[in-house]
Amino acid sequence: MDASASVEDRGYILSLDAGTSSVRAILYDSFGVAIAMAQRPLRLGYPQAGWVSQDPMEILSRSIACMVEVQVESGIHSDSIRAVGIANQRETVVVWDRETGQPIADAIVWQCRRTAPMIRELENAGHGPRVQELTGLVPDPYFSATKIAWILDDVPGARERAEHGELLAGTVDTWLIYNFTHGAVHATDYTNASRTMLFDIHRLEWSDELCELFGVPRSMLGEALPSDGDFGRVSSDIFSHHPPIAGVVGDQQASLFGHLCFEPGMAKNTYGTGCFLLMNVGEEPVTSSRGLLCTVGLAAGGKVSYALEGSVFQAGSVVQWLRDELGLIQSAEESAAVARSVPSTDGCYLVPAFTGLGAPWWASDARGTLTGLTRATGRAQIVRAGLESIAYQSADVLGAMEADSGLTVRELRVDGGASTNDFLMEFQAGILDRVVTRPGAAERTSLGAAYIAGLNVGYWESVEDLAARQAGEHRFEPAMAAEEREALLGGWHDAVRHTLA
Ligand code: ADP
Repeated sequence: MDASASVEDRGYILSLDAGTSSVRAILYDSFGVAIAMAQRPLRLGYPQAGWVSQDPMEILSRSIACMVEVQVESGIHSDSIRAVGIANQRETVVVWDRETGQPIADAIVWQCRRTAPMIRELENAGHGPRVQELTGLVPDPYFSATKIAWILDDVPGARERAEHGELLAGTVDTWLIYNFTHGAVHATDYTNASRTMLFDIHRLEWSDELCELFGVPRSMLGEALPSDGDFGRVSSDIFSHHPPIAGVVGDQQASLFGHLCFEPGMAKNTYGTGCFLLMNVGEEPVTSSRGLLCTVGLAAGGKVSYALEGSVFQAGSVVQWLRDELGLIQSAEESAAVARSVPSTDGCYLVPAFTGLGAPWWASDARGTLTGLTRATGRAQIVRAGLESIAYQSADVLGAMEADSGLTVRELRVDGGASTNDFLMEFQAGILDRVVTRPGAAERTSLGAAYIAGLNVGYWESVEDLAARQAGEHRFEPAMAAEEREALLGGWHDAVRHTLA
């Protein structure tokens, strides 16, 4: 870019991050710097134990409110917004009336377990392996398919209406795009589609076989496009210059893109309440034998790359537990200094299996343990063990990914609230014996969607152009002796075995 050209000439990219607990609209300049943001919370409903729902109209109205507010607050108006990108909470579904645009039920949120009996039935009937073969997913109520079917069964007359083509369904991206374009575009992108359990990730199209298996009429589903497909334009009542919706991507894949993990073996970990790890495995899907998911990782620039995905259920939540339940720290930030106040945990391990253990152990009935306590174990050792548990669990998932894919991760790219903890990142680098890099601007999800939209409309020229514009990053070099690493990992795995027993 010509340095004399003012930023205003270049304009901005607006990224809408439609998350689970809030929506945010962020304006990015050509350096990928967030220059204005508007945020609104979203409410979650818990109609029964294990059920989670959301009001689709609230998701829509608060998204629009953020997009309008960010213009008003920044003074940057739609004539300088070159494109809109959307990153969204995945798997959550909305079903609405094609004619009126009104939802026929609350959205069922990804966390909701209400369709567990449907999944059990499916597994008992032996469909599990075939579902995994087509979708890369291990059948679970988490994904969209059974959620849509549940609404069709629950709302009187819905199934019949769906079969007559009167109802439409979609993930949150699809719902927003449909409304932003006044019903002109009913579409989703491959990354979101790959989380529905209705999408054949090999052929990159909806699977008739799965639509039949789950009882979801294919006519309800929108067109599946690459993340940089043509998703129409935002209507003029939101943005008078109706910019194109030029990037649409599920939140975790958005973060993978935002971290520029474009080559096989590149991986990112987002340390939030839980951890979400994704690793680029290249242009062919990998079937996991360790319970990891294979999903469409990147789908832009004429190329599709697959990713292995695994999560750690308890990560930042461990820090909240240390603070709120045990009262050992006053704030999450304090945890780093407390952990550093002792040289080690002295053989104390916390296995935070509060809701069971995920990959690669898969023990939903396991519960947490604190092992190796001595009379000398105190607050600092326990806090340190809590932070270290986040790193150990992430290392186990990464190890499973490497074993499934045959690829080696050389560097782990990180973001999310708990990635600001330098002690944790140093320990993570040590325990992995790999470099951990934390980008200067920690927010990768919305930036990833902005990157896809901006590349699509020529706002950025190339992926290299993006890399050159990335702000400085923090590198954590591994500085742990091999012996120490082996001893610590051995102790951790003993503690996990304790927990499993
Ligand atoms: P989410 O998107 O899941 O809400 P965030 O990315 O906002 O998560 O991160 C919030 C989580 O990060 C909380 O669980 C919090 O305990 C944890 N966290 C925030 N700051 C720190 C810190 N300095 N050290 C450790 N954990 C932290």
